[in-house]
Amino acid sequence: MNHIIEVRNLKKYFDINSRMGMVQHQVKAVDGVSFSVAEGETLGLVGESGCGKSTTGRLILRLIKPTSGEIFLEGRDINSIKDKELRSIRKDIQIVFQNPYSALDPRMTVTDILSEPLSIHKIVHKYEYGKEVKRLLGLVGLSEQDGKKFPHEFSGGQRQRIGIARAMATRPKFIICDEPVSALDVSVQSQILNLLGDLQKEMKVSYLFIAHGLNVIRHVSDKVGVMYLGKIVEMGIVDEVFEKPIHPYTKALLSSAPVPDPFRSMHLEVLEGEIPSPVNPPSGCAFHPRCRHMLAICKEKRPFLQHISLNHKVACHLADIAFEGGRASYA
Ligand code: SF4
Repeated sequence: MNHIIEVRNLKKYFDINSRMGMVQHQVKAVDGVSFSVAEGETLGLVGESGCGKSTTGRLILRLIKPTSGEIFLEGRDINSIKDKELRSIRKDIQIVFQNPYSALDPRMTVTDILSEPLSIHKIVHKYEYGKEVKRLLGLVGLSEQDGKKFPHEFSGGQRQRIGIARAMATRPKFIICDEPVSALDVSVQSQILNLLGDLQKEMKVSYLFIAHGLNVIRHVSDKVGVMYLGKIVEMGIVDEVFEKPIHPYTKALLSSAPVPDPFRSMHLEVLEGEIPSPVNPPSGCAFHPRCRHMLAICKEKRPFLQHISLNHKVACHLADIAFEGGRASYA
């Protein structure tokens, strides 16, 4: 399969300095994340606030520099390119931000907002900006007249449509959708999700879809990665992970999500306690202080992502034991 993005062992550690400028602590915001996204595919990243999913998106965009690891865009290592070459990858990798209210410059008209990336990345000749802006507005369901307005004249959903049009302006191969519907009314969330889906089919663009809402992730994703304290703890084809979750953290997240089916029974796995500080994460499996299945080994040894089926990986000692015992899952 043709991979648009491939991330290998990506790490981002933030230093916390003392007053003397010495490194006192490190926050391991992203700690050894690996995944790939194929053409026209959507990978959903899910987890509680502070798990590292948004930092992962910003690392791929090179808004921040990784501590280590590799990021490939169609086989080209974009982690090692110089800052002055970044423009070439920004054309191919775009972002849709969470908050459409702050993501648009209030002093610019929509036409100016959409013309800016056309100019920076030389997408079309400047005589064709008007025609291209009209095309982009039509793409996201806005009219030519909307191009003359300022962002404050639109609703939240319409502003997010403008944000999506701006991301599509460079005809990218990969878009990072960083919680693109979480600031919107529930009534318009599905419209924006459907719009992103339609554009994906039309333009064959790939998405990294970051969200904390599991229902949203299931609706839009082909694959899902569940993140906890900077690491992916479960990853796989979205239906398999949602129907047969293995990691206790995934089970707890799914248990806490509303299920619109009164006849469906679920084994509730309650998520107890707070997410630990990433400055001083727990030893072994970082989830062990909150896990009711914890074994002695869990405090000592970190579990690594292991295949439990062709398209499903889990980082949990219980899964290791079940796998070694000849079973693909445990109750
Ligand atoms: Fe729970 Fe142990 Fe699995 Fe971690 S490795 S999720 S503590 S059973």
